[in-house]
Amino acid sequence: MQSDCRPAEQILHPLQRAKSFLVFGACLHLVFGTLAFRHAEWPLAVLLASCFITTTAAYIALARGHTRTASTLPALFCQTILMFYVVAYAGHEHGRALWFFSLPVIASILLPPKEGALWTGASLVGAVAIMLYGNTFLGTSAYSAGFTLRFVVTIALIGVSMFWSELALQRYREETEARKALIEAESARLKAEIVRRASLERDLRILATTDALTGLANRRAFMDRFSLELARAQRPGPNSTLLILDIDHFKAINDRYGHPAGDAVLSRLSLLLGTSLRNVDLIGRIGGEEFAVLLVETSAQMAQPVIDRLIEHIRETPVTLPDGTSLSFTASIGSTEILWGDTIDTAIQRADEALYSAKKGGRDRHCQR
Ligand code: GH3
Ligand code: MG
Ligand code: MG
Repeated sequence: MQSDCRPAEQILHPLQRAKSFLVFGACLHLVFGTLAFRHAEWPLAVLLASCFITTTAAYIALARGHTRTASTLPALFCQTILMFYVVAYAGHEHGRALWFFSLPVIASILLPPKEGALWTGASLVGAVAIMLYGNTFLGTSAYSAGFTLRFVVTIALIGVSMFWSELALQRYREETEARKALIEAESARLKAEIVRRASLERDLRILATTDALTGLANRRAFMDRFSLELARAQRPGPNSTLLILDIDHFKAINDRYGHPAGDAVLSRLSLLLGTSLRNVDLIGRIGGEEFAVLLVETSAQMAQPVIDRLIEHIRETPVTLPDGTSLSFTASIGSTEILWGDTIDTAIQRADEALYSAKKGGRDRHCQR
């Protein structure tokens, strides 16, 4: 189930808080403005209407992505004038003057901590001036010295605690963001490392199972796959046939044309095997010039024409050396059908014996066991 809770960092974000606060403020201004209008208290109604308009405008500006200070200054200015008004015309027992207590909170939410504290301080000076001299010069509400002192101390206390809590919140936010950036950088580094290691592992696996010269499976990889096929051969179904293929007089090719020419023959033969056999068949280079092939689900009888064609193909496909020499070569093949109960060793031994017979019989041929 999806949670409705927003992440703490979003709720604590100054912009989110300012937006929520502006909505709340606009509603209050609307309610009190309507009341002032109904009581025909025109200056208060006009001030509350200005506050409502500037607060709403500030919300819209913030929602459109404008900066907090620039967007909220007009609203804060109107709010401060309103506060001066309620201090100047405080009503019965100066009850209205107590609304001034909201100014430090408003200033600290709409402005950054230091600017908010400065705004509160300056507004307090203005309010105290009205309290001390307003009555004499403008005929506004009269305040006793005791009330004024308690007023100043309370506003100062609220202002200082707002300033410290905002500062602490700002530091916390900055540290959280720095930590988040560090975690993101570390996570990106780890992801890159995982990708690098996975590719390294893939390369290593290929290196460990592939013959570098021919790209065929090496001896170990062929035997691994062959053992899997042997396990499958224990179940009912067509048998497979194992071939051991050995290039004839390969040493003489090396001796006469050089080692690179021998390598070219090995590469050509591996290509021939790849193109002549089916994808399902297993092919591997299991020794210097020795290859193994498993014709999967192909009986000895079915394998016979395939092998004959292969020998013929090898014989008739010469390799062209870099100096233009055309080099023909042949191969001998020993084959055996995989029998029930065969192991790698027993199957290979029979195929080897068949290969030996093919060599003994004159090479360039196929013998079967
Ligand atoms: P046979 O017809 O009886 O198989 O004779 P052969 O000369 O093919 O067999 P032998 O075992 O006497 O020689 C195999 C040669 O293969 C010896 C070795 O130097 C050569 N060889 C083994 N690996 C490579 C290789 O990777 N590249 C090249 N060019 N030659 C290799
Ligand atoms: Mg050989
Ligand atoms: Mg050999």
